[in-house]
Amino acid sequence: MSWRYALKAYVTNPETVDDGAMIYFDDKVSIIKDSFAKSECHLLVLPRSTQLSRGHPTNIIDSKFKNEFEPYIDSAINYIFKHFQEKFRIKKGDDNEPNWEDDILREKDKFISKFIQIGIHSVPSMANLHIHVISRDFNSLRLKNKKHYNSFNTGFFISWDDLPLNGKKVGNDKDIETKYLKNHDLVCCYCQENFSNKFSLLKKHLELEFNKHFELR
Ligand code: AMP
Repeated sequence: MSWRYALKAYVTNPETVDDGAMIYFDDKVSIIKDSFAKSECHLLVLPRSTQLSRGHPTNIIDSKFKNEFEPYIDSAINYIFKHFQEKFRIKKGDDNEPNWEDDILREKDKFISKFIQIGIHSVPSMANLHIHVISRDFNSLRLKNKKHYNSFNTGFFISWDDLPLNGKKVGNDKDIETKYLKNHDLVCCYCQENFSNKFSLLKKHLELEFNKHFELR
């Protein structure tokens, strides 16, 4: 079976999968941990109807789809929020104030707006429709190259809030990949510092940023 179908078992036979990735499933959806998580917390919401995997996600995700699947997106967000609340505290600076304007682990709405990213890739690599719900730290050993980072931090990532696209075209796969994954500079998602093509520097910087903002409980 082609690697493009690596997510298939989670939607066709979730009850038989025992690799520890499965978080939740019912008739409509499976929610799993991404096996190659690009952040501290990276989940995939997978609609189980195979009909919904026929075609580009931007042609499938309309307002009706969003209404139907929004509660599952919320469940994924809640999982991530709980994970962070249980594992971390917001670090305080010298002035005893959080190193962020707000203690986002106390206020879910602020946590979501500042630190959660939801959406799809313009050119998905996996055949089964999936929506990424990911914490916006990109502090993960699995984040190994420029392409990984830019796929979440440029126009390559289509936000859930921007769907449906209402007729706007995504564009040609090759052009999008060249523009966003290859030619786009690496820009820190916390402070917007530009690392140009220097992935290893960005990676160290992301770890510093994470440790500046969070500490283990
Ligand atoms: P996309 O580029 O939007 O198609 O993303 C596909 C996602 O599936 C990536 O984040 C991969 O890390 C993830 N992935 C690939 N294989 C598996 C697998 N066997 N189990 C769970 N997640 C996977």
